[in-house]
Amino acid sequence: MTIGWHFDNTYSKLSSTFKEDIKPTPVHDPELVILNEKLAEDLKLDFSKINKKELAKLFSGNSLPDGSNTIAQAYAGHQFGHFTMLGDGRAVLIGEHLVNKNFRFDIQFKGSGRTSFSRNGDGRAVLGPMLREYIISEAINSLKIPTTRSLAVVKTGEKVVRENLLPGAILTRVASSHIRVGTFQYIAAKQNIDDLKILMNYTIDRHYPEIKTSKNKALDLLNLVMEKQCQLVINWMRVGFIHGVMNTDNMAISGETIDYGPCAFMDHYDPKTVFSSIDSHGRYSFANQPPITKWNLARFAECLIPLIDKDQDEAIKIATETINNFEKIYEVKWLNMMRDKLGLFGEDKNDKILIKDLLNWMEKNKADYTNTFCNLMNIKTSNNEIYNNKDYINWTNKWQKRILLNNSSKDKSLKLMKSSNPVVIPRNHKVEEALKEANENNLEVMNKLLSILTKSYENQKNIEDFQSPSNTKEYQTFCGT
Ligand code: AMP
Ligand code: MG
Repeated sequence: MTIGWHFDNTYSKLSSTFKEDIKPTPVHDPELVILNEKLAEDLKLDFSKINKKELAKLFSGNSLPDGSNTIAQAYAGHQFGHFTMLGDGRAVLIGEHLVNKNFRFDIQFKGSGRTSFSRNGDGRAVLGPMLREYIISEAINSLKIPTTRSLAVVKTGEKVVRENLLPGAILTRVASSHIRVGTFQYIAAKQNIDDLKILMNYTIDRHYPEIKTSKNKALDLLNLVMEKQCQLVINWMRVGFIHGVMNTDNMAISGETIDYGPCAFMDHYDPKTVFSSIDSHGRYSFANQPPITKWNLARFAECLIPLIDKDQDEAIKIATETINNFEKIYEVKWLNMMRDKLGLFGEDKNDKILIKDLLNWMEKNKADYTNTFCNLMNIKTSNNEIYNNKDYINWTNKWQKRILLNNSSKDKSLKLMKSSNPVVIPRNHKVEEALKEANENNLEVMNKLLSILTKSYENQKNIEDFQSPSNTKEYQTFCGT
């Protein structure tokens, strides 16, 4: 009965500064809720011959696979701007699974019990939020945005104390690694340059081997991570995703979306949109995501200062110049991304004004972000009356004129739009509906939602209900659940 695990655990071989060796705390009565068979297949793992009871034991950590080597990783983080030493307080990395020699994935249990980094937490997670992470991370993946994935969720058979007693759960998270900006902050705070070099070289080996032999590895790493994280936030802006808690411990060096807590998708276009219950100043609002990405990258750059140049002043100068390129890089990428959404080829000096005019119209008229682009692609969704608006029609006339400058066919333009604009996103009310049913042991609604969300760019039949904006005006999301 071979599943196909191929563990090669490199992070656990680092010194004790980087992690704590610890096993998941066994749970009382695990039960499998969902297994991502498609992802398992991509990972070359075969669970088909394992019965549900064994699967529950496996994905709860009650019985660990051969070759695993469980650790909790140390990291720090700026949480809403305040620096804290953190670490996996409710997660353990069970190992690194090799799909082949070029594809290495962390397999991590989230909600697996207390560690030395737990502070006052119970080390546990609740079923609803773990299924929510499962749904949204799979949707983000289908939107072709780099992300951690979700392999399985089990119920633990134990109650977890939150505002009341809730069913406990463990999520199996798959990531190209869990190295965060905060991992560098933790090691930098310890002020041991050898450890910092070890982390830098480890990260380069794992994610950016192309700079292994470069002259200034720290500077090249900074530039590459900046490029990756900039591209990530561009993708979020493209689909209206609001991460909600962009603390430096939740920013992966790989450029994957990580830590699905208070995230949600924006319905009507409003740059100030915030869903997180604790984000009262809008630090992580939709429009603030790019400047916060830059802010987080500046914290990353600070960690690398001792490795950029022996002369500290020189290192600071170089790092500052590098980080200050962010806006320029972002602006170019953003314009191109918006051109793609509108099916525009080439560049015209009025493109930016054209784009801003559409966004302003959407904001003023509370038009749905996703559905407006669907309307431009001639895909009918809900509430189409809004598109009879005179200003909107005037705008589309200008847009049509710009399309004529494309020097390309209408088909190609539409194709570009269809690969940039989702037809369906996880609408808040639909996600809530699925979670409510799942809490009552009915997975049908969630499976139906997943089957639609995993085809996010396809014009599917009978999905109007999944395309309508949420009525949940004051929709709120939560951290650490
Ligand atoms: P998050 O808000 O999920 O990014 O978590 C921030 C930090 O709090 C991380 O170090 C987590 O491991 C830790 N944490 C969150 N929830 C718990 C919990 N229930 N028990 C222990 N640690 C937790
Ligand atoms: Mg986190």
